[in-house]
Amino acid sequence: MAAVELMQEGSATTEEKTDYSEDLDEEEVFFQDIEMLTEHNIAQEDIMLLKKMGINTIKGAQMAMRRKLLQIKGFTEEKVDKIKEACCRISLSSGFMTALEVSNQRKMVFKLSTGSDKLDKLLGGGVESMSITEVFGEFRTGKTQLSHTLCVTAQMPGKNGYIGGKVMFIDTEHTFRPERLKTISDRFNLDQTAVMENILYARAYNSEHQFELLNSVAAKFHEEAGIFKLLIVDSIMALFRVDFNGIGELADRQNKLGQMMSRLQKISEEFNVAVFITNQITSEFNNNQNLLEETHKPVGGNILAHASTTRIALKKGKGNKRIAKVYDSPDLEECEITYIITNGGIADIKE
Ligand code: ATP
Ligand code: MG
Repeated sequence: MAAVELMQEGSATTEEKTDYSEDLDEEEVFFQDIEMLTEHNIAQEDIMLLKKMGINTIKGAQMAMRRKLLQIKGFTEEKVDKIKEACCRISLSSGFMTALEVSNQRKMVFKLSTGSDKLDKLLGGGVESMSITEVFGEFRTGKTQLSHTLCVTAQMPGKNGYIGGKVMFIDTEHTFRPERLKTISDRFNLDQTAVMENILYARAYNSEHQFELLNSVAAKFHEEAGIFKLLIVDSIMALFRVDFNGIGELADRQNKLGQMMSRLQKISEEFNVAVFITNQITSEFNNNQNLLEETHKPVGGNILAHASTTRIALKKGKGNKRIAKVYDSPDLEECEITYIITNGGIADIKE
């Protein structure tokens, strides 16, 4: 497994640190530890091998393809059958739920504030857990500023009994700035040190490393079950664009990207976290009645389009103003709003 570079792991005084481990009763049922397989005659060493693959929960094992499990050394068809059956027994279902159960599970979904009421409203209440939210736009549109703001707001109690929690930040462009977190914390009257201790940072160096890090992320989310609420990847495509060149490598790139997005979706559901990704755009020039028209599209093609649940397009406005527009969503209206970038992060324009 890739060596995860986790910085700022908490060691601070307990008074300063927010303890998110209270009030977790409801979520305990959600996180069924893979160790439970021992009670179903699965050997401890096989469980260790599953963990090495980044599978830490019963749900994680159920989400894993048989083909993936068969890649584990010593795992035969019979062994995989036995594990899958045991998982079914533990989760007490054959994979079906009543609509009422789905509705109850949806009650665990929370929404994180972006720092702008208008942007929250555009998002139907905020950045939602158990799904992937993507923002894309050209440089300086505020993608990284929004990521930093979410790092702070995710730690604050919110609507519908949301208690706040820790954040995992995967940085692919080396633009993570702890100094920005300090001024954003000040805006919300939060202790700067405590806020920074609740954010785990990992730098990804290439697209493979970015994917491997997700195993470490899953292990950490499992270790501190229910504590992490947000996973940020800023930006999702930057390393892929460097690692894969030309049309000849496109199919391979899209295949790997698909695997990464699938893993992110599973993590969001397995641990009930919000996954927030930023993305870049490309410009296309179309000849419309002899006038060259420039259009912007997010990179990543259909694979990214289908994997992101909610897609928001960001554009530059005058000065510090920026425009956000719903680009694609299963349940949001296609409207747009304006927000500003301030020293305290993303905010509404003062009327
Ligand atoms: P890229 O595609 O290059 O990653 P981005 O969309 O991530 O761009 P950001 O870095 O989020 O862009 O935003 C940069 C903008 O934020 C710049 O216009 C900059 O002036 C503004 N900005 C950065 N720091 C502050 C601050 N402390 N106060 C106000 N505005 C700031
Ligand atoms: Mg950026």
